[in-house]
Amino acid sequence: MNSKADLILCNANVLTLNRRRPRAESVAVKRDKIVWVGRNADIELFTGKRIDCGGKTVVPGFNDAHIHIMAYASNLLSIDCRPASVVSITDIQEKIGRAVQHAPRGKWIKGAGYNEFYLAEHRHPNRHDLDRVAPNHPVKLTHRSLHACVLNSLGLVLAGISVETPDPPGGLIDRELGTGEPSGLLFGMNSYLNEKVIPPLSEKELRRGVKLANRSLLSSGITSVQDATVRNSFEQWETFRKFKKSGELVPRISMMFGLHALDDLKGRGLNYGYGDNGLRLGAVKFTLDETRGRLNPCQEELNEGVLRAHQAGFQVAIHAVEEMTVRAAAIALENCLRRSRKADRRHRVEHCSVCPPPLLRRLKAIKALVVTQPAFIYYSGERYLSDVPEAQLPWLYRTGSFLKSGLKPTASSDCPVVPCNPLVGIYAAVTRRAESGQVLSPKEASSAEEALWMYTFAGAYASFEERLKGSIEVGKLADMVLLSADPTGVAPERIKDIQVEKTILGGKVVWER
Ligand SMILES: [Zn+2]
Repeated sequence: MNSKADLILCNANVLTLNRRRPRAESVAVKRDKIVWVGRNADIELFTGKRIDCGGKTVVPGFNDAHIHIMAYASNLLSIDCRPASVVSITDIQEKIGRAVQHAPRGKWIKGAGYNEFYLAEHRHPNRHDLDRVAPNHPVKLTHRSLHACVLNSLGLVLAGISVETPDPPGGLIDRELGTGEPSGLLFGMNSYLNEKVIPPLSEKELRRGVKLANRSLLSSGITSVQDATVRNSFEQWETFRKFKKSGELVPRISMMFGLHALDDLKGRGLNYGYGDNGLRLGAVKFTLDETRGRLNPCQEELNEGVLRAHQAGFQVAIHAVEEMTVRAAAIALENCLRRSRKADRRHRVEHCSVCPPPLLRRLKAIKALVVTQPAFIYYSGERYLSDVPEAQLPWLYRTGSFLKSGLKPTASSDCPVVPCNPLVGIYAAVTRRAESGQVLSPKEASSAEEALWMYTFAGAYASFEERLKGSIEVGKLADMVLLSADPTGVAPERIKDIQVEKTILGGKVVWER
């Protein structure tokens, strides 16, 4: 007897990521769920719209477990200053000079993505560089890391930053030698500037940015994202809801948020996991950094916050890059589990960039999840090799060791820090190669299967949604990607060039090449 399906993928090389049945040839979908996975010979049991995949590879939709959607949307509207588009401060000046000509006097000019390491001058731009081309417009140039930015003189005036301004908590105002005047370069002050100084995007601008971000995500095969923005609160939840409703932001979103918003969200009945398959409330995000050897926030404050979020029933996600901050994150999680052992909350350490063996063992003991960014190796590998102390290099982005130790690492892009293309991330996890071709601790390489798992199943696991998505199995959401080649079959060197041909979300083709 024939059964009716809404979509049938046949003649495919299906990598299901389901350990019980790793490979298949065809998939049938009814409404938004997968109802059948099997061989070509048996797909005749189904009638319905058919896509002949021509032997190409189908994988579960990619899940980018750490991304900043609104920053990405805003970046896409900014002047592109990434290493791929500028090679020098002179290039940046030229681009800003051109934008100034079209902008009304006084309007903020924004550039994004610069990385001083790749600039010919090998330094950060300063206010003088920017003043030269923009004397009458405030300028903000955001660093690739999102943790630093440069303002021109008018920008500094509007931000109220002068020679007398002390460094704010967690921030650092770079100063000129001799005079002590701000150089324009600011560390750890991005959120403050975005919230308090720079006018928000207009409704129209925001919509345009979100549309561009949506397109970029879908064309990269990303069907789920986890927004790790610490500034998120109920207001952002409502903004996401609006864009979900209008269909302008298609990928499924899990929204993390900062501790400041916990009481408000709980008060409104939004608990962990609240929402639906399109938009769900995720972890409480903590940012933890070290400025001049000091933790910000301090250990006690972090311990307290983490415990509070845990006791409120939430997963926590702690941003920790340096060894000192990863250790502080481990201490906070140990403390929290000692005080309140409740259910396994899959607490996350975001980045975990430097992780020597004793720290790795501690994270394992508390069953922490590590959310790593393999593509950083591709986009910044050269810089790591030249700037990171030799003794620390083996402990950098240890994807292989995270996998071997059973830490269940999850992959992500941290976009807009680097582009969101998961295939570049898979390539970097497998080859450990920087864009320049240099290799970073090859011992930490993982297999293409493992890397694919980190971008799909592990992502779902990291937001407690592995029963819903992350593999191609009967009963799961029909989120799948058709690729031009098999990442587990081609030569590793070719993985980064694999194209996404179709992106299917909830059984609908939402993007095709
Ligand atoms: Zn981030």
